[in-house]
Amino acid sequence: MTCISTLILCAVTVLLIVFPITVSTNVGSKPVLPTGSVDGYLTFDQTNEYLRNAHSLYLPETSSPPFSIGKSRSGRTINAVCLGKCDDTNAPGVLFTGLHHAREPISLMTLVYTLHHISLMSYYNDPETQALLSSRQLWFIPLVNPDGYVDNLEKSAANRNRRKNTLPGCSNVKRNGVDLNRNYETCWAGDTLCEQDQFGQDCGNNPNPCAEDYRGSAMFSEPETKAIRDFVGQHPNIKAALNYHSYGENLFWPYSCVKKKKSETEAQANLFKSIANELTLLNSYKASNVYDALHYNAAGDATDWMFDKHGIIAFTPEVGPNDQEAKANGRSRNYDLQDAYGFWPPIDRIPVHSNKSVSANIHLAWLSGPCYKVSAVQMKVVKGSDPSGQGLTTQITISLKIKNIGLKASGEKAFLQVFEEGILRLPSQTFKDRVKIGGRNVILAEVMYKVRSENHMKTTLIISDPENSECSAFLINHKSSSISDTKHLLLESDLCNYHHESKILPSGDNKNSSNAKTKIPSDSDSKPQSKTINDAGFNYSLLPYISGGAAVVCFVCFIFFKCKNVGEDKYSRISEDQIELGELSDVSTEPAFRDYEEDG
Ligand SMILES: [Zn+2]
Repeated sequence: MTCISTLILCAVTVLLIVFPITVSTNVGSKPVLPTGSVDGYLTFDQTNEYLRNAHSLYLPETSSPPFSIGKSRSGRTINAVCLGKCDDTNAPGVLFTGLHHAREPISLMTLVYTLHHISLMSYYNDPETQALLSSRQLWFIPLVNPDGYVDNLEKSAANRNRRKNTLPGCSNVKRNGVDLNRNYETCWAGDTLCEQDQFGQDCGNNPNPCAEDYRGSAMFSEPETKAIRDFVGQHPNIKAALNYHSYGENLFWPYSCVKKKKSETEAQANLFKSIANELTLLNSYKASNVYDALHYNAAGDATDWMFDKHGIIAFTPEVGPNDQEAKANGRSRNYDLQDAYGFWPPIDRIPVHSNKSVSANIHLAWLSGPCYKVSAVQMKVVKGSDPSGQGLTTQITISLKIKNIGLKASGEKAFLQVFEEGILRLPSQTFKDRVKIGGRNVILAEVMYKVRSENHMKTTLIISDPENSECSAFLINHKSSSISDTKHLLLESDLCNYHHESKILPSGDNKNSSNAKTKIPSDSDSKPQSKTINDAGFNYSLLPYISGGAAVVCFVCFIFFKCKNVGEDKYSRISEDQIELGELSDVSTEPAFRDYEEDG
């Protein structure tokens, strides 16, 4: 074989390996996060342009492009965009809103950063992001109050202090507008906790059009809140929401209206607390009810209404900076200067505060559906002989605690399996009861299976819930008797799609599950299956790089070893591989796709 034919062969090999992989991944350049033109903040037009680009280039086709959910009082479009399984009205949904208050642009930036992170992970084919986008709906309405925001951006930095929309009604035009976050139905007419301020009696909102918390002439009097009302009403699959504000690094749960707070049950409060704890572990915010923490109330806000009228587990996060940072940078501890910094943190702090809540946002999206947590109450490892000769010398017995910390009950067909290095060791066990939301019923179960080695770090427990497009993997470490955190997988992945025969998994609540009978798989259950499948830990996003790298190495090696011998007419040894490659090279000299060309 000549050097030239070797080069042609290598080029074809590289193309054959790299090209199919390249076309199977997302095309186009990497998603770019634009820098806003007003001190780093995106304008109204830039935000909408970003929403259009993010959807069209980097997200799966089931995502929905931005669409208008209504217009502001001045006719500006209020856009919503959906990421994920948006063509399935039953998919669990989460809603993120920003900028109810016009001077809180970091709330808008937090949502744009979250969108960007998901686009980027989707672009890189990150398996968990793919699983998220194939099982959940993530709704973003980042700019609820465009009129107030545009009004702020047209002013000098020192005067960007408008909180409300721009409805006329106050003799001082600077104080015009309705506080959109006091215009919702729940407690709109006012709370029981009241105080006098410069505008008269304030009971969590104010009937005076000049007041900063003016509630409007009627509940939902404003087109912006009507748009949110109608949108939420049309999406009953939305289970959770974060209505973003700033500043302070707090996470408030309902009710902010004290008279409604009295109606909250203990179970409701516990659910809010446990989800708030999950979220604040990720963003380090302080979680509380607004009245308990700050001793003030709010009446007619979006979060109270979402929970009160739609049962949505909604929170009001206040993005950073926290008070300490705002005070330290506000100069002279002047309250106006503190606010000027707090509401409009400088450009270098925008990524810091916006990125802080990205993982909490994604976690809440997971929580909108079933979301399993598994722990090992006890794990017993017994080494023994292997009479069957299959190498399964170690018997494992685990007492499992299975919890659903999400907001949707598990499906009727949810099941559990254990794999060792991709080989099934514990056949499917279906849950006797559904695992209810918020960890209200913990299922305890004992499982027993045999493995080749207790030291394998790749023994995986799978919970698959086909009705909810949900599949989770947990690594079992027999040495430390522990089970890892949840790793979400695509339902179509090999581990989740394994053919199975179901057995009923004993289940129950904490009280009676201690009496649950041990389910021991029979010997035939324990037989190793011939089907070997990919391990849950493999990072598929690296595949193009690994394959591309291998092709380049192949190319360089061929050039080196073949071209070095130009002029020599012998090889020390000819392997079968070389013979096959030689045959391939003969074919490669013929025109490619000749049949197609002849067919015209
Ligand atoms: Zn606010």
